[in-house]
Amino acid sequence: MASFRTLDDIGDVRGKVALVRVDLNLPMQDGAVTDLTRARAVAPTILELADAGAKVLLLAHFGRPKGERHSQMSLSLVQGAVENVLGREVMFIPEVAGPVAAQAIGILRAGDIGLMENTRFWPGEEKNDPEFARAIAANADLYVNDAFSAAHRAHATTEGLAHLLPSYAGRSMEAELRALDQALGNPQKPVAAVVGGAKVSTKLAVLEHLVARVDHLIIGGGMANTFLAARGVDVGKSLCEHDLAAEAEAIMDRADSAGCTVHLPYDVVVAKEFAANPPSIRISNVHEVAADEMILDVGPQAVEALGDVLKTCRTLVWNGPLGAFETPPFDAATVALAKVAAALTKEGSLVSVAGGGDTVAALNHAGVAADFTYVSTAGGAFLEWMEGRELPGVAALRP
Ligand code: ADP
Ligand code: MG
Repeated sequence: MASFRTLDDIGDVRGKVALVRVDLNLPMQDGAVTDLTRARAVAPTILELADAGAKVLLLAHFGRPKGERHSQMSLSLVQGAVENVLGREVMFIPEVAGPVAAQAIGILRAGDIGLMENTRFWPGEEKNDPEFARAIAANADLYVNDAFSAAHRAHATTEGLAHLLPSYAGRSMEAELRALDQALGNPQKPVAAVVGGAKVSTKLAVLEHLVARVDHLIIGGGMANTFLAARGVDVGKSLCEHDLAAEAEAIMDRADSAGCTVHLPYDVVVAKEFAANPPSIRISNVHEVAADEMILDVGPQAVEALGDVLKTCRTLVWNGPLGAFETPPFDAATVALAKVAAALTKEGSLVSVAGGGDTVAALNHAGVAADFTYVSTAGGAFLEWMEGRELPGVAALRP
């Protein structure tokens, strides 16, 4: 794993001012925070630093204010939620730099926690303006990045600060990087990847990166239809990107020469209308889909075979559901394969790492998210990592 410093390397932080970049972009509805997952994820880092006597200053973005102050995007709105999760008082600081911030930081005692205002209120954040970063760094002694989910952006508080202060990965960043390394960086072989979801077009780069790295590429979801169509299968009314046939062919060719087996479903669940439990639902061989039918899930025989593939593997990386899982019973294949992966992980024979907004929802729906080795909630950053891209926020942490 590319080396970076963690809190284990940070030394004595007593009385030092630590800037901690976190993800507090908490979902809100009618003025109330509806999900605390992100706050919970960064709590260990914040508490560890505070308990070691640092003056902890939280930096985060909230919504998309585009470089201007908007009271409805003030981070003061999540202050109470953060205090509840931490079980500590948190002082809100309505700036990130300048005399007001300096004065507020001056009254913090060792172990106190401050929450600074939404970093995106200032245009210098998204521009990664060195002046802006220097102004923030001027009040601090060190920088900890615990926001993997923002690490695909080269912004002042996700990337710039790391060049100005001694910098460290927080515990949540460390766990994420370790899990991703276990899954694709330095995995135990054989490795299987499940790539599903709606469209090939959003995941071309992911597929191209994976074929050269995994032993089994399991393609499901709407994107499997594009691959089937490229092989001459008539997919009827299914979601399908016919214009990507050449790209699909190229990916299959590259898989062949890399020794990667591509698994496409040979039976599928089809219906004439996209609705819950439609009367027209039936299981079909992929070669017998009617012109007025849609493929909405991978079929039971294919799922069973895919489970057998996972049993031969030591590592699994999963992005994208196998079917239209939000609408029953088109969740069946995703749930069944997720359960196999969870059981193998529990037995200790499989390292399983999954990510993606809908994938996380699907694994929660299957009730197995906690049984996977690691489930990333990082969204865009996770996908860019699946594409093999270097994330600027991670790269900047290297000493
Ligand atoms: P993630 O957010 O995990 O990266 P995607 O956004 O790529 O996943 O894809 C998830 C979407 O793909 C879901 O809304 C699901 O309903 C849809 N989907 C999966 N299979 C099919 C299919 N056969 N036909 C239409 N939509 C599908
Ligand atoms: Mg999605």
